[in-house]
Amino acid sequence: MAKAKNFKCPECRGKLFEEKNSNEEAISTCLKCKNDIPNYIGFRMDYMTFDDALEEWWSLKREKEEEEIEEVVKTYVSEDEYRKKDY
Ligand SMILES: [Zn+2]
Repeated sequence: MAKAKNFKCPECRGKLFEEKNSNEEAISTCLKCKNDIPNYIGFRMDYMTFDDALEEWWSLKREKEEEEIEEVVKTYVSEDEYRKKDY
């Protein structure tokens, strides 16, 4: 648990975070809403303002939701195929 004045969660504006290292990118978990926030968004690296970070966060979330929807569609299709074989 750490506190840095420049971390700001784009989801709930929380300032407390826990560092989490994945192989691919540096991520911090917001201790308030438990979202995993990529560091470049949470710490607003380089040019980013908080508004930029929010925009980036929302587009990330949209991508993730679209991936989840695709997963559901895939599952649905395979169940459908499974049933066809069964009956
Ligand atoms: Zn948060």
